[in-house]
Amino acid sequence: MSLVLPRVSLGHGPTPLEKLPNLGAELGIELYIKRDDCTGLALGGNKTRKLEYLVAAALEEGADTLVTLGGIQSNHARQTAAAAARFGLGCELLLEDVPGTPKLDYYRNGNLLLDHLCGARVRVVDEGSDLTLCAEQLMRQLREAGKRPYLIPVGGSNEVGSLGYMRCTEEIIQQAAEQGIAFDHWLVATGSGGTQAGLLAGQLSAGDDTPLLGFCVSRSAELQEALVGELLERTLKRLGIPLRDGASRVRANGDYVGAGYGIPGEDTLEAVRLAASREAILLDPVYTGKAMAGLIDHCRRGLIAPGSRVLFIHTGGAAGLFAYSDSFQPG
Ligand SMILES: *Cc1c(COP(=O)(O)O)cnc(C)c1O
Repeated sequence: MSLVLPRVSLGHGPTPLEKLPNLGAELGIELYIKRDDCTGLALGGNKTRKLEYLVAAALEEGADTLVTLGGIQSNHARQTAAAAARFGLGCELLLEDVPGTPKLDYYRNGNLLLDHLCGARVRVVDEGSDLTLCAEQLMRQLREAGKRPYLIPVGGSNEVGSLGYMRCTEEIIQQAAEQGIAFDHWLVATGSGGTQAGLLAGQLSAGDDTPLLGFCVSRSAELQEALVGELLERTLKRLGIPLRDGASRVRANGDYVGAGYGIPGEDTLEAVRLAASREAILLDPVYTGKAMAGLIDHCRRGLIAPGSRVLFIHTGGAAGLFAYSDSFQPG
């Protein structure tokens, strides 16, 4: 793969690929984890890899301010604030309340606390506002004030951000070869879609056909597959790689979304507790907890066959645990 596109360095890499023997035994599979929770940028997570390409694009344009949007407890917003701090850029965050989420620490802890610490300017948008419209207005205001803002879409998911996960695929393929593991499944949480699209683009360009399943955190499987498919197409097109049967490889499962984005179900909480108590792996209540709930249920129901070699791609998010402390109180 010729990824000669501009990239800055923000993360610690390659992130480890490790075995989870205790949880694997409990689920009757050989379980491995790709530690993208350990990318290292202000508590890390999957947005770091995307931002390596997005910040490079912003710098190429001569930008002096990063602008992005998301929920109040957005991991993406936190990593964008951290990336801006590293490169001496301003950071403006447009953050929206997510109805139905626990409120005890939601407005003072977790990611939002770290946004402030990293020096970002946070604007909270009223529930139900059109975030895209607000972002356009903010971009205009900043330009009028003499700034050179660069807008990063929700989750850093576009054909630039996805490149970060093509690189991750290269790492996984190399680490699997070094460790002598042939995976039967790759599993990942899928939200704004750039992670899954990038992983798949990487697989297609490397000729790796391990099934990749995305566990949805907000949408139905159908809508999620359409979103990821469109991003995949744009990413490959930008690189001049033919799509071929790529679209048919986009697979999502929407059975573990529960009551909606940002609202953990009982199965999500159980998954977070299980990973922490068996492996000291810290998942999160919004993304990876739902994906792990999906993995657990798939094993229990035999949808993932006993003895399978499964790679769980940990996309981070543990900072969110502190914003959801009321969901995790014992007893
Ligand atoms: C953003 C995020 C995801 C989803 O990644 P997308 O590229 O938006 O699909 C998964 N896990 C965590 C912890 C995230 O912050």
